[in-house]
Amino acid sequence: MSSEREVVEACPTELFIGGKWVAADGGETLAVEDPATGATLCDVADASPADGKAALDAAVAAQAEWAATPPRERGEILRRTYELMTERADDLALLMTLEMGKPVAESKGEIAYAAEFFRWFAEEAVRIEGGYQIAPNGSGRFLLMRQPVGPCLLITPWNFPAAMGARKIGPAVAAGCTMVIKPAAQTPLSMLKLAELMTEAGLPAGVLNVVTTNDAGGVMEPLIRDGRARKLSFTGSTSVGRKLIEQAADQVLRTSMELGGNAPLLVFEDADLDKAVDGAMLAKMRNGGEACTSANRIYVHSAVMEEFSSRLTERMTALKVGRGTEAGVDVGPLIDGKQRDKVADLVADAIAQGARPLTGGSVAEGNGYFFQPTVLADVPVTARLQKEEIFGPVAPLTAFETEDEAVRMANDTEFGLVSYLFTKDLSRALRVSERLEAGMIGLNQGIVSNPAAPFGGVKQSGLGREGGTVGIDEYLELKYVAVSL
Ligand code: NAP
Repeated sequence: MSSEREVVEACPTELFIGGKWVAADGGETLAVEDPATGATLCDVADASPADGKAALDAAVAAQAEWAATPPRERGEILRRTYELMTERADDLALLMTLEMGKPVAESKGEIAYAAEFFRWFAEEAVRIEGGYQIAPNGSGRFLLMRQPVGPCLLITPWNFPAAMGARKIGPAVAAGCTMVIKPAAQTPLSMLKLAELMTEAGLPAGVLNVVTTNDAGGVMEPLIRDGRARKLSFTGSTSVGRKLIEQAADQVLRTSMELGGNAPLLVFEDADLDKAVDGAMLAKMRNGGEACTSANRIYVHSAVMEEFSSRLTERMTALKVGRGTEAGVDVGPLIDGKQRDKVADLVADAIAQGARPLTGGSVAEGNGYFFQPTVLADVPVTARLQKEEIFGPVAPLTAFETEDEAVRMANDTEFGLVSYLFTKDLSRALRVSERLEAGMIGLNQGIVSNPAAPFGGVKQSGLGREGGTVGIDEYLELKYVAVSL
């Protein structure tokens, strides 16, 4: 395994356009920071709108040839990408930890998860089916074909620097689309490294273009309004997603939107508490709480509240906070000072409204953006953190008495990404799963993300699904040919 300095020095820092690494138009750069120390890791190119246009030009130029490339060939490039990521997981994980902060073990988990999207879509590339239908009047035939939508614009957030891109690039490559991807300004390195690795895996020039920039809106809006891109896939906050949907309306651009969450986690009185505590730890603390799937509100039946809260508090108190590169660290820093202050404000607001901290509750010491793992009891439903994504290691507990009350509280949000529920009663499990307004349900488990399953939300958590057998559909157009016999 390489050293910290070696992995940073081995990472490309320029824009990747048309198969070439190029400096930004005006030579501008942006600094990438280690959130555990606040120190600059390196500088990467800061693209201008002209660079964005050059990237789209390259994607458009490569589209026809790429769409005509045999599916097996596209699949094998994805398969090789999976293999290279797996072989180099240690270095890729270290690079991710340096730019994003999560412990190396979690970064390794994300690299494996991201690589799995490439393996999954390598298999899907050769299963793009069509159809043959006899017209109802018997006189004609319908041929159904599924074709690549065309050049795509992909925008990803900082919290999963590799997986959120892999979840889009995998199906786009499998479908035969070219693309311009813009990773988050705070975590561009994992994506730049992935572009290098996909080139090594055989991806032709122009299929994947990467622009890193501090001017996300200035670079991406002209591309969204350009008319040559045919698809926009975005993962990020609901507020930015809404803006992008408006911009996409101009060209009636197809969109996939993976937006914010506010996941409820319900623990019923008949739950297996071992599973419920394990599930809550995973749903809350995966990625240090900086996940769209994070359990944001934990509703526990009053009969088991005392036992559940004391066991959860014990587990949260035992977590070691520190730099993600250090051995034994469970929780890294938050991404930046703004996020740390937001978490502190949400906790202060809940406490002012009557919540009781059972552990943690404040900013942790150190130069980086650390926050102590926190459990809050008696959180009133009026607290701001019941409505807003916390994006930090804070578990708010609220008691309920009846199933109806639990479901009502769980659904009382504009978000609908994922809900978790813990119960041993099968009828209740199915009944409540049907009533919860969410795209995904974790039933007696605290994780739903799986490349082989359709990931996505309802309500203001988004549009479309990523992964699973339907994930490739987001990058395919259905065409039908009416055949006269
Ligand atoms: P964000 O602020 O919405 O940013 C996401 C991406 O959009 C970044 O690349 C950002 O660039 C870019 N962006 C910002 N403003 C833009 C604009 N006007 N035009 C074009 N692009 C723009 O979200 P974030 O803080 O990075 O990520 C956290 C959010 O993502 C949370 O709400 C979380 O729930 C959500 N998320 C959802 C899923 C899901 O699958 N549903 C998965 C992960 C995260 P810059 O980095 O330069 O600002």
